[in-house]
Amino acid sequence: MTKNDSVSASDDQTLRNWTRNMSLWYVCDNAACRRARACRGNVDHCFGRNVQRVPQEVREWFLMLGELQRDQVPFDEAWARLDKTPVGEAFHQWHTSTNAPRGTGGSGAAPDRVSR
Ligand SMILES: [Zn+2]
Repeated sequence: MTKNDSVSASDDQTLRNWTRNMSLWYVCDNAACRRARACRGNVDHCFGRNVQRVPQEVREWFLMLGELQRDQVPFDEAWARLDKTPVGEAFHQWHTSTNAPRGTGGSGAAPDRVSR
C-alpha cells in the first residue's frame, strides 16, 4: 500500500480528467464507469485503485509527468518530452488499445484484459 504523493492532483475535477486521460475507467470495477468511459462517483477511490491496475509503464509515465511539472516544465512540453521515451510510447499504446473498438476481430490485437 503505497500512497502516491507525487500525484499532486487532489482536485476532484483534475482526477476525473485523469481517469479519462489514462483510461482508468477501462480497468475499473464499476460497470457504470466503464460504460461512461470515465470514472464517476467517488473518483478518489476509483483513481487510487485503478492506477494500480494499468500497465507499469503507464503509471511511470504519469509519475514522470508529475515530476517534470514539479520542475516547472510546462504541461505541453512535459508531455512532448515523454512522448519520445519508451513510457510515452507505452502510454500511447495503452490509450489506443483501450479506445479501440471491441470485437472487430482481424487486424490489430486489442487486449481485452490488462495483466498486472
Ligand atoms: Zn471508476
